[in-house]
Order: sequence, then structure tokens, then C-alpha cells
Amino acid sequence: MRIGQGYDIHRLIEGRRLVLGGVEIPYEKGEEAHSDGDVLIHAIIDSILGALSKGDIGSHFPPSDEKYKNADSRMLLYQVMKETGARIINLDTTIIMERPKLREHVDGIIDSLSRILDIEPSRISVKAKTKEKCDATGSGDAVEAHAIVLLDNN
Ligand code: MG
Repeated sequence: MRIGQGYDIHRLIEGRRLVLGGVEIPYEKGEEAHSDGDVLIHAIIDSILGALSKGDIGSHFPPSDEKYKNADSRMLLYQVMKETGARIINLDTTIIMERPKLREHVDGIIDSLSRILDIEPSRISVKAKTKEKCDATGSGDAVEAHAIVLLDNN
């Protein structure tokens, strides 16, 4: 087995969609990014690449490449899964943002991830926290995500 960890942060700005795990969440602000800015999927991609010691999202999908402008991060994750042949035992994630409340969206995000990763929802955990009003994330100016994945290396 191999374990991997991933982290990402994006600024939240007006005029952008808020996309988490491939699910669009209704909110007045969204992730500033070259791609669609899906902070959760970016953390998951880094956890998988990290588990396999295969670099990070930036080395596979350079932000300087116009091809990835407004890219759908679901496709990037799908591509990573296909290219690495990663077999996920379980995936545990945490999204950190002050607003909006994510509790009602968690099941939909797990469902979305299970379809992209082609694994049962019971192997996926999505937790939502706030930063208790500390720092930029706690002020509502950013969203962060952490991911830890365990892969079957056989
Ligand atoms: Mg990112």
C-alpha cells in the first residue's frame, strides 16, 4: 500500500463559480484560478500523485498551458486516475471555508467523487470545517482543502 497527502488553497472572488469535488455550490463568490479552481479535486490529485511519488498537479497540468484555461478539474482527476492506474482503498478529505455552510452539499460531493474515481461512496470521506474567523480563509477570502489517500500498490 502507499499513502499520499495533498493540500490546496484558492482565493474566493466575485464573478467566479464555487466548484467543490465537481459540484457547483450556489454562492456569491468562487475560486480564482486558471482552471475551474476546484480546490478539493486539486488536493485529491496531489494526494494521488504524492502517494505514487509522481510529482504534483502543477508538473502534470502547468497553469502556463492555455489548454488548461477554465479546465474542468473532474477531467484532470479522471486523467490522473487513468494514467497512473491508481486503485484507491480509501480517501479522506477536509474542506475549510467560512461561508457558505457545506453540510447539505457533502453527500452530493461524495457522490460526484465516487463517479469520477469509480469507487463506492463508502470509501470516500468529505468533512467541512471553518477556520473560526482566523486568517484569510476565516475572513471568507479563501477556501482550502486537504486530502489523504491510501492506494493499493499491488
Ligand atoms: Mg489549485
